[in-house]
Amino acid sequence: DYVPVITEEVRQGDPDLFLVAGTPRLKEMAARMAARLDTGLCSGCLSLKIDAVDKSVSMERLVYGGAAVQTVTCSTRPQMATIPPRTYGIAVAPGKREGQIRELAAPSAGKMKIIDRKPRTRQSVDITEARILVCVGRGLENQQDMQMVQELAEVMGAEIACTRPIAEEMHWLPEETYIGISGKQVKPDLYIGLGVSGQIQHVSGIRDARVICAINRDENAPIFEVSDLGLVGDIYTVLPEMIKQFKQALKK
Ligand SMILES: Cc1cc2nc3c(=O)[nH]c(=O)nc-3n(C[C@H](O)[C@H](O)[C@H](O)COP(=O)(O)OP(=O)(O)OC[C@H]3O[C@@H](n4cnc5c(N)ncnc54)[C@H](O)[C@@H]3O)c2cc1C
Repeated sequence: DYVPVITEEVRQGDPDLFLVAGTPRLKEMAARMAARLDTGLCSGCLSLKIDAVDKSVSMERLVYGGAAVQTVTCSTRPQMATIPPRTYGIAVAPGKREGQIRELAAPSAGKMKIIDRKPRTRQSVDITEARILVCVGRGLENQQDMQMVQELAEVMGAEIACTRPIAEEMHWLPEETYIGISGKQVKPDLYIGLGVSGQIQHVSGIRDARVICAINRDENAPIFEVSDLGLVGDIYTVLPEMIKQFKQALKK
């Protein structure tokens, strides 16, 4: 358990700001560290501004399923926040400044003994790292039709994601591939929604996609309100044509 070790280090260092990566494990640890440090924590912080004079930080996070942005400040020290993966691009190292890496002592042995460690076998790729995502919604009628989606993904070099019902109700894709407020937040360069209605719980997960493209046969589907490119049509007509066109254009 690394929480006491890191907490003690933070106490000693007494920083104004303590940022933690917003991975599933660290999010949970950050909450426990904030409690031990008796300070505030902005979870899922998407942007922050530091006041150069008093080092106070104003932090932004999504609330109400992504429908609103909340700005928070922390009156205690250290100010803490968890930053979701890919919130910021990789920064260029400034000049000759060098960071200092220190190894902390291992946590003291608890009553539990680790017998073995094995990497988790993933059923799927990490969709939060994908550049292009093809997202399947309930517009897809049968599981066999996933073949058509796979073909499109392959020709475009995309990964496949889905809406919650596809993973949790239909079980057509693993749970770690659904996007949204209770699923993954993604930031691809291109998101293509196939038969996705665009409910707020889903759309809050694609808010930071660079280009959102949607194909839906209902011209009033809410997904079109957040799309950069929208195509009103039946995926069963559009998809085969897209695959054909991409194959021709990319000569695959
Ligand atoms: C607390 C809570 C948390 C939730 N969290 C999430 C979450 O994290 N992620 C998430 O995705 N959902 C989440 N949901 C569920 C969410 O509200 C929606 O129900 C879900 O996103 C809808 O999925 P969908 O778009 O696949 O299906 P639907 O809403 O059923 O939409 C299907 C769409 O496909 C279109 N369509 C049908 N046939 C065709 C065709 N042949 N060609 C083209 N278009 C077609 C329809 O016009 C429709 O717009 C949550 C719900 C709750 C209550």
